[in-house]
Amino acid sequence: MIVMKFGGTSVEDARAMENVIGIVTKEQQRRPVVVLSAIAGATNALLKSADIALEGNLEGAHAELNLLLERHVLVLENLISGRAEIQQLILAIRKRFDELKTLCQGIAILGELTNRSRDSIASVGEQLSTLILSHALAQRRVPIALVDARSFMITDDQFAAAIPDLELVGRKANEHILPLIESGKIVITQGFIGSTRKGITTTLGRGGSDYSAAIIGAALNAEEIQIWTDVDGVLTADPRIASAAKKLKVISFREASELAYFGAKVLHPSTILPAVEKNIPVIVLNSKRPQSTGTRIVAQPPKSNAVVKSIASKKGITVINIQSTRMLMAYGFLSSIFAVFQKHKTAVDLVATSEVAVSLTIDNSSHLEHVVSELQEFAEVTVFEQKAIVCVVGEQMRSTVGVVDRVFRALNDVEVIMISQGASEINMSLVVDESSVTQAVQQLHREFFEPVPELDLFEQVDA
Ligand code: ADP
Ligand code: ASP
Ligand code: MG
Repeated sequence: MIVMKFGGTSVEDARAMENVIGIVTKEQQRRPVVVLSAIAGATNALLKSADIALEGNLEGAHAELNLLLERHVLVLENLISGRAEIQQLILAIRKRFDELKTLCQGIAILGELTNRSRDSIASVGEQLSTLILSHALAQRRVPIALVDARSFMITDDQFAAAIPDLELVGRKANEHILPLIESGKIVITQGFIGSTRKGITTTLGRGGSDYSAAIIGAALNAEEIQIWTDVDGVLTADPRIASAAKKLKVISFREASELAYFGAKVLHPSTILPAVEKNIPVIVLNSKRPQSTGTRIVAQPPKSNAVVKSIASKKGITVINIQSTRMLMAYGFLSSIFAVFQKHKTAVDLVATSEVAVSLTIDNSSHLEHVVSELQEFAEVTVFEQKAIVCVVGEQMRSTVGVVDRVFRALNDVEVIMISQGASEINMSLVVDESSVTQAVQQLHREFFEPVPELDLFEQVDA
């Protein structure tokens, strides 16, 4: 069997959904499990309505929800045939929106919005997209089964960033999904959402549908995991930043994982791990151009001479400089620093040490105040916000001299605040000001990919 995950833009309207239907039915022989995101923008709109309600603006929240309701109605009116069926579906969807409005009312009255409520609200997007697609497929006489992801995607209760219990999910997925596949059905389920053991709805964090797909693929021993999105595959940079970005035909799990972690939105950072553990290839494909061959992410790609494969970037980074003349580099100093970050559940991305200071970066600054005040008990601390990480990735980098030179030549007029290389031999990460990240990525892209170095690995992206 295979897993086919479709992101928001792949189900954004009736036409996109028709594309999905075409792509899925073509693969029917391979026994697909289809994992869907909410229609493009739905999760944002749902969360926005909750935030507006929290401000006490119930009317605004309702207006936001009404717009989203209309979008769903439009999709199904153009996708489903038969007045009666359309009416019945509209009724079901209206009911969900009525529930959402009641929830918003509660938020407005209490003036409180917990992550638990946010998850419950955000999860509706995926519930609706799967409902619509499964009706459309059933109407086209495709044998399908809609499985609520909450019946098998069991997570802890860290709402908004819930962690799946992979062993339990594996067991439950086999129990709930496998018999349906074996009976010849195409299974449709939601990405992104899960449930605690007690049955309370959770989400895996923004962009989490990719992760859902990988977990399901690993649980069911899929032949491959297909991630269908709005670009031709993994590119040499985000095409929104570097318009000349080229497609990579193949990259390694390690490279993909670094790219995703350092901001390449095309894959959720956790996606690769379940696939790695089972050695299942992940293929990134374009649902608007299904004829394109996409990018294969595999354990051992064929050897390539390309030194740098891709450039990723991530904004919203905070740099923390820690100095202590008294204890510097004394043994135990670094561990006392990291203990503070661990205590406040704040992940550190990059670390650089010098004789007089330790610099590190975090991308989640929700506990920054506590972290800083505890560090100040034994060191001098300076914080720099609104920074960005630019990350250059390629397996060949570790055995090639001169990459660093080329990076700095390309960035000659960009102020580099921090450099980190070595933790992973396949990447080099630089911290720059948020305002110069576009320039940095574009200049690096020009240095390494314009003109394209090796036609065998890189492929032109058609407009
Ligand atoms: P989906 O809704 O299908 O999950 P996303 O918007 O989450 O899609 O991810 C796809 C987007 O990722 C692309 O439109 C592109 O702008 C962005 N992106 C960032 N870095 C890369 C990269 N290296 N290769 C391809 N796409 C990238
Ligand atoms: N719909 C969710 C989001 O927008 C999950 C996803 O699309 O991957 O974050
Ligand atoms: Mg995504």
